Amino acid sequence: MDLADVRLNDPLVRAFKGRPDLDSPCGCGSHEGTTPLTVYLPFNIDCLNGGFVSAKGGGIVPDQSGHWLIVQNQSLVLPEGPDLAPTFGALPEVFRDKLGTPFWLGHWRESPCWVAGLPRDAALPAGFQRETLVPMQDTRLSDELLSLGGMAMQLLHWESSSGFCPRCGTATERIENEWGKRCPKCRYEHYPHLYPAVITLIYDGDRVLLARKSNFAPGRYALIAGFVDNGESLESAVRREIKEEVGVEVDDIQYVGSQNWPFPSQMMIGFIARYTGGEVVVDTTELEDARWFQRDALPNAPTHHSIAGFIVEHYARRQAGG
Ligand SMILES: [Zn+2]
Repeated sequence: MDLADVRLNDPLVRAFKGRPDLDSPCGCGSHEGTTPLTVYLPFNIDCLNGGFVSAKGGGIVPDQSGHWLIVQNQSLVLPEGPDLAPTFGALPEVFRDKLGTPFWLGHWRESPCWVAGLPRDAALPAGFQRETLVPMQDTRLSDELLSLGGMAMQLLHWESSSGFCPRCGTATERIENEWGKRCPKCRYEHYPHLYPAVITLIYDGDRVLLARKSNFAPGRYALIAGFVDNGESLESAVRREIKEEVGVEVDDIQYVGSQNWPFPSQMMIGFIARYTGGEVVVDTTELEDARWFQRDALPNAPTHHSIAGFIVEHYARRQAGG
């Protein structure tokens, strides 16, 4: 079987992460295969299975009580213990005067969700622990908490970078019922920024082309990825990145799915593409190595929390004829 024939309603793909709810998240049984399962990757809001309502729509701001998503650098600050759940209820007294301004993110499981930053150099109060939000650092957070934490990080990033008009420097105001900001002087409006990046698995029959950067863990290889340039379609960005980084030509570019990636604000858009020709020539300013691997002899894969890991798992590890 050629990789191009793989379909998302394949039984192997439907077994994604062993979660039976994923065939039909709403339980009605009628959505099988209609949505790329990547929407249930952590950092995507679908991962919360409808349990989250954004504060973007406005409404009465609730009391500062509920779930507390306290972010320090790229970690969540949680009560000590094995549960790895956010503080719930009123903000613990130990955080008074230590956090930045709290922001109402929305409601999760019908309780308000508050986001606040703990300065990077602040000591952790007794009874609290830090858990990384970075999948590559072996996070122990659940997919739900990664999604909430990702939104919390992006909200703090947006608030820290949107306080002044990028055109005239005047202090901005929040646009009603939006996350966007407006300049009261020149009327410039801007909204939370997401930077589109394409990420692609290149295949040629039973082999796939993977690459590594020098800062990767030993033996780890990954997909070709890069940001979309002005004027490019996603497909042309795929072709250009691949040509620039590994020197080969591709065709039959197929969309696989996407993942919101909050480090700090990327939209990763996944593809598979068929090799059509050219010698592998590595751009050594970007990569350390690139080579073909047989699908039954792949090197270390990216984390399963990422769309890269999803694509490797479901489009590269399959055996020929599987
Ligand atoms: Zn302005």
